[in-house]
Amino acid sequence: MMKRYVFIHLLLLFVCIGSMQAQINWPHNKKAAVVLTYDDGLPSQLKYVVPQLDAVGFRGTFYLYGKVLKDTDIPAWREVSKKGHELGNHSVYHPCWAKPGSTMSEPCHALQCYSLKEMLLEIQLMNAFLYAIDGKTERSYAYPCGKSGVGEEEIDYSKPMLEAGLVKSARSVYGGVVNKVEDIRLEMAPVVVVANQMKADVLINYVKEAIEKQGICVFLFHGVGDNFHYTVDVVEHQKLIDFLSDHKEELWVDTFLNVMNHIAELKK
Ligand SMILES: [Zn+2]
Repeated sequence: MMKRYVFIHLLLLFVCIGSMQAQINWPHNKKAAVVLTYDDGLPSQLKYVVPQLDAVGFRGTFYLYGKVLKDTDIPAWREVSKKGHELGNHSVYHPCWAKPGSTMSEPCHALQCYSLKEMLLEIQLMNAFLYAIDGKTERSYAYPCGKSGVGEEEIDYSKPMLEAGLVKSARSVYGGVVNKVEDIRLEMAPVVVVANQMKADVLINYVKEAIEKQGICVFLFHGVGDNFHYTVDVVEHQKLIDFLSDHKEELWVDTFLNVMNHIAELKK
């Protein structure tokens, strides 16, 4: 009987230690981290998102890619950076995986056509482009179309990209809310993908999950209030921002780069 008690106590101790290890220590005793990321440099982000974030002092991450950046938009993105938001690297040509049978354009910018070297060079070029806008030398990256394989063999460029020192961290397109350091790979950090016309209560539930788990919730947005194929309503986005603002005491809302740099420190 005694042996059984000792065994149960030991078991409970291990469970407690296990759950303690699972928790991430967030700065300033915050309970969770929330990262707001927006892809493709869409006009609605400048029009609606930046003012909504600025109004409550939040900093977001905007993943731009070279091909669609108009020179007339560059001063606006420079201002966005000056306010503390992050301009992230989303490549120059936004290469995706061409569907079987589709005609490849010339020059080809489908992922199948890239070598590892060419992909890394393109990321380097976009870094230089972004440096010309904001003067920053540290970058994070978002995989165009969520794919990290190049060439017909789908050679994974995620780790080589970090090893080459091109970016400090990169965002995936899956994974949801997590709360273990080991579940956050710097080259493929987990994310909550915001589906088309997703409502604020669904988004807020992810934040509540992060608070409950003392974890991290990285949102991947595209358009807000425009006609893009992935778009949330401006009002729904505002409701999420209001919720985050109302819970400022317990939430660390910051750029992807800043939060991932914290995770990188914890990994050391
Ligand atoms: Zn994209």
